[in-house]
Formats: sequence, structure tokens, C-alpha cells
Amino acid sequence: MSTTEPTSSSNFIKTIIDEDLASGKRDKVITRFPPEPNGYLHIGHAKSICLNFGLAKEYNGKCNLRFDDTNPVKEEDEYVESIKEDVAWLGFDWGKEPLFASDYFDQLHEWAIKLIKKGKAYVDSQSAEAMRENRGTLTQAGKNSPYRDRSVEENLELFEKMKNGDFPDGSHILRAKIDMSSPNMNLRDPAMYRILHAHHHRTGDKWCIYPMYDFAHGQEDSIEGVTHSICTLEFEDHRPLYDWFIKELEIFAPQQIEFARLNLSYTVMSKRKLLQLVNENYVEGWDDPRMPTVSGMRRRGYPAAAIRSFCDRIGVGRSANWIDLSVLEDCVREELNETAYRRQAVLNPLKVTITNYDQIEMLDAPNHPQQEEAGTRQLPMSNELWIDRDDFMEDPPSKKKYFRLGPEREVRLRNSYIIKCDDYVKDENGEVVELKCSADLDTLGKNPEGRKVKGIIHWVSAQHAVKVPVRVYDRLFNQENPDKAENYLSALNPESLQETFALAEPSLLEAKPGETFQFERVGYFTVDAKDSKDNAPVFNRTVTLRDTWAKVK
Ligand code: ATP
Ligand code: MG
Repeated sequence: MSTTEPTSSSNFIKTIIDEDLASGKRDKVITRFPPEPNGYLHIGHAKSICLNFGLAKEYNGKCNLRFDDTNPVKEEDEYVESIKEDVAWLGFDWGKEPLFASDYFDQLHEWAIKLIKKGKAYVDSQSAEAMRENRGTLTQAGKNSPYRDRSVEENLELFEKMKNGDFPDGSHILRAKIDMSSPNMNLRDPAMYRILHAHHHRTGDKWCIYPMYDFAHGQEDSIEGVTHSICTLEFEDHRPLYDWFIKELEIFAPQQIEFARLNLSYTVMSKRKLLQLVNENYVEGWDDPRMPTVSGMRRRGYPAAAIRSFCDRIGVGRSANWIDLSVLEDCVREELNETAYRRQAVLNPLKVTITNYDQIEMLDAPNHPQQEEAGTRQLPMSNELWIDRDDFMEDPPSKKKYFRLGPEREVRLRNSYIIKCDDYVKDENGEVVELKCSADLDTLGKNPEGRKVKGIIHWVSAQHAVKVPVRVYDRLFNQENPDKAENYLSALNPESLQETFALAEPSLLEAKPGETFQFERVGYFTVDAKDSKDNAPVFNRTVTLRDTWAKVK
């Protein structure tokens, strides 16, 4: 069940689209999400996915999933598969087949030749060093390459030889002939094609020249008829270059619109860093439940609807976009509060003996307090229970505000009787190891007469409880901006994973992978989809019931 729909809030991009539709500049909306398959998707990508697919849905248009696989060196099919899985899981549909930039390699090659013939591109044979030097700086114009005025014929011949594999990597590149003194560095004769004797995950060994991202991206959008090409702000300075290519090639012009990328506190989002965390075993893998990846969040138990509602809530703008991690966690809580069934489990057990109760009862307990239609489950009650150690204090501080157990105090056992602590037992170290309580047997499903009992605690029957492994996850980083630390690895939270177990009510044994429950008064827990077996669930703490980090600050 999901409580939220993909993007619905207004934003500046919708305003632009509305104007384009009203003026007749566009008669439909086609967007795209163009990941490079060199890593798993993270929450920043989710923002872009929700935005692009959300707009397509809202305007009755289409959003392509296009893999920008122009760099053969870092790309792998594993990433392609994970990206498809993640986009579908987030609830979006890219139509029949995903698209690949590599499908356009022939077309792009043809266009490169077209620009050579127009005198708008040339083969440069300077060393990489000379090229760097001649590029100039932000304050200094660049210098023309000595090869800049090669004839069209010579350029065509050299480019053909580059393509045929006659030259080693790095010996020549194809450059656009624009302006070496442009204040925009991207326009100083940018590279279009480079020689790379590398195997490509889809085209195999067909090519030994590959288009540069900047020569490929805008034309890919054009081929697909993308009406609004939405990207992050760092591409703003590339827009004049994309427009130049489109104009010189005389092809359909998509409109690029830039927005601020999402930054999340206590998180790193650079793929290079995420890859390092995986490769150097700081985490278990890309889908480690502490990772900001879509697959990690899924495994942790974040519902897709919560991620969509987060992306909607944070909005889309053009100024730096720092969002506190608690906003995402709140979205997860809100969604799970609606959808997760309630269960009882004790993580930090203290034994309770009910001295006046000598039977076993199967109590009916609602699955969800606000949703009668969710039904009930059977909760076994007996004379020996586990409660949470934190729910008893020998010497409670303030009489008024303390509603849990203490000597001579009463609480209600959730879904069961009211009990009173008559006595308690200590071990040789002075630690309380058992409570002796009596139950008011007239309080099942009703309040006692003449007094009010405010506290409610969770519990499980000792003889019926099942012991299940629990992973208590916390934030992966304990500094607000890990990228600010000298080395972001030093900001890793050493307590981001604590492996323990819970004593849980027996119905939890049947919990299925991916199912999430609220362990009442403890938090939300999801059955790990990788490590659980039939009747042997392993639980991941998805999120606490309240924000515990806000208090620390
Ligand atoms: P890189 O290109 O350095 O490998 P990237 O994060 O840009 O990393 P891509 O696969 O190119 O990764 O990203 C696909 C799309 O996701 C791009 O359109 C990009 O704008 C968008 N995107 C990536 N990171 C964020 C972010 N933090 N916030 C919003 N959108 C993002
Ligand atoms: Mg990118």
C-alpha cells in the first residue's frame, strides 16, 4: 500500500514547461533519466528519477531511461541491471526497452564527419601536455593548436585512421573548432572523440574511438526528441557547447534546464567514494542497508513511496540544496506508521514472573491500531515474560512523569493485563534480574475502576518467544558533512552497525523477506531480503520511532 503519489508540488521547471506548451514551442513533454552505468543509483539519482518520470507522468508524456555508456572503461552490465531494478522499484515505467547511448555510436560518428566536412572539427595531434598548456586559464586565452588548420581532406583521412585502429591511445583527438579565446572554457575547441582501445559492454570491440560525453549527450537528447533535458547545475556552462553542436548539425534542439543537485547531511554521494566504501569493505556491498543507494535503502526497509514523498517534499530549485537526513527519515516513519503491522519484541530483556497467573492464554492483538481491517494476530500470554530492561527503575526520578514499572507501580502490558511490581530480585552484583508482579485479572480489554494506569509497555511470553537476529543500523557517518573532513573515511560512524538479537512474539517467525513491522515502542524493522531463510528471519532496523539525532545536537 502506498500513501503518496509521485511528484505533485509545483516548481520552476513546471512553470517553464507550462509556458512552452502554452506558447506552442512544444506540443508534448519528453524527458529522460540518463545514468552512466558505472555505479549503483543513490538518493540523489532518485531525486532526478522522481523529477523526470514524475513530469512525464503529470504531462502525459514519456520519460526515457537511457544509459549514457560512452565511457567503456568503467561501465558494467551489473550496473545496468541494478539501475533497471531500482527505477522499476521506485515505481516508474520507461516503456518497452531502456535506451543506450552506444546505440547511437554510428549516428554520432556520422555527425562528427559532417562537422569535419563543414570545417568545424579537426584532428589534433599535440601531446596531452601541450594541449593542456595551450588551453589557457580562466583569466588567460588559449592558443590555437598548430594542427588547427589542417585541411578537410587530411582531417577526414586521419579520423578514418583513428577509427580503424591505426593509432595508439592518446596520439590524436578530434576537436570541435570553436574559439580558443572564449571566456567559457568548454568552448575552447573541446574534444569530441578520443582513441581508446577498450572493450565496450555492448559494442564489444567494434570501436576504438569513443565520443566524449559532451559531444554525445546533447545529440542523444536530440535523437530521442527530448523536449526538456533536465540536468544538474554543473552542466550550465556546457549548455552553450551543446547548443553549438545542435546548431551546426542542424538537428532538433532540446531545451536544457538545470536544477541544484541534492546534498544530504551525514551522507556522501560521490560514486567514487561509494565505490571505495564497497571495494575496501567499509560496508558489505552497494546494497548494504547503511548505504545511501536505492538498493541499500530498499534492503533497509525504506518504502519506495517514502522516497518519492521525500523527493517531492524537498522540491526542485536552483540554489544549493542541503537537506538534513532527518527529513528522509521522517518520510520513512510517516509511511511506515501507516503501512507497518505492529508486533512485540524485546531487545534488552528483563524477566518478569506473574505470581497470580497460572495459565496460557492466546490473546487477540490488532495488527494496526488505526486500521481495523488489518485484522488481528494471536499473542500468547503466560506467567513468565520478558520486558525491556529500560521499563523498570528501582528508584524512579520524578513521581509524576515516570509511567513505567518501579516498586509498587502499575503498568499495562500492551494488549494484555495491568500488572503491579510487588518485588524484585537482584544478583550478586546488585543488578536487578527479575521482577515479581501480580496481574489485575479484571483488566483485559478494559480499564480498572477507581484508578488510572497511564503506562503501557511491550513484552513477550518467555516460553513462546523466538530469538531472532537483529541488526541495529545507525547513520553511516557521524559528521554532518563527511566531505568536509580531511578524509571522509574518518567521519565513518564506528557504531553504525550493532548486531544483536530480539526475543520476539512467535508470529514474527513467519515474516517474509522485505516485510516491515513496527516493534512497538522500539522502532521499525524489516526482514532482510538477503540473509533471511524460511522461518528464520533476520531483522534490519529501518528507522527509530523518533529522531534520536536531533537531541544530541
Ligand atoms: P558521475 O557522472 O560523476 O559518474 P553522476 O552522479 O552525475 O556521477 P550519472 O549517472 O551521470 O551520475 O547521473 C545520472 C543523472 O542523475 C544525471 O542526470 C544527474 O544529473 C542526476 N544526479 C546525480 N546525482 C544527483 C544528485 N545528487 N541530485 C540530483 N540529481 C543527481
Ligand atoms: Mg554524470
